[in-house]
Amino acid sequence: MPCVGKDEVRRHREMTWMRVDRYFTGEGDDTQAVHQPMMCQHCANAPCETVCPVLATVHSTDGLNQQIYNRCVGTRYCANNCPYKTRRFNWFDYPRADELQNLALNPDVTVRSRGVMEKCSMCVQRIQEAKAEAARTGVPLVDGDIRTACQQSCPADAITFGDLHDTESAAAGLARGPRAYSILTELNVDPGVTYLADVRNRPQHASGERHGQ
Ligand code: SF4
Repeated sequence: MPCVGKDEVRRHREMTWMRVDRYFTGEGDDTQAVHQPMMCQHCANAPCETVCPVLATVHSTDGLNQQIYNRCVGTRYCANNCPYKTRRFNWFDYPRADELQNLALNPDVTVRSRGVMEKCSMCVQRIQEAKAEAARTGVPLVDGDIRTACQQSCPADAITFGDLHDTESAAAGLARGPRAYSILTELNVDPGVTYLADVRNRPQHASGERHGQ
């Protein structure tokens, strides 16, 4: 995921595959912020897939919404049709003539060319590597073997990744829990990502009684 800097963000050319939305409640000293990481929801009925004229975004057997860079012609219909606005158009050419500079690019990820759509892939390179390793060694994958980059780097351990068909997996357990909800379910896009409702102790100074009386 490239960082493009302030100038490009001002021109609406940000490339974040995961953004962190903020929502506020209360006013003045009682204001509280909640954060909601937002990335491709890997919808089962993905509206981005139905509008691509060259089938550059399709569903995988793993349930992922895949983006095939070398087939994409950059119409951006998919980005317009994504209700979560998680797709980015790549305005830049990242490979450099200087080979040394290219070493800064993640070797596990395909370097995209200018003019294609990008988005969170749920670290598909890690998934494929783990599957290939399991096939090589004959040791079946177990829950927790595959960790996405965001999951690995989150200090608050806020992200869990796993197989929802495996009822014993940590992700499936959380998705069944009472705090679980999905976003924009009324659109029937069937997102694969589940969020957990934020539970907080209400600070005393924010209580309605104190302000209302
Ligand atoms: S979140 Fe957007 S980009 Fe991802 S599958 Fe759904 S519609 Fe497509």
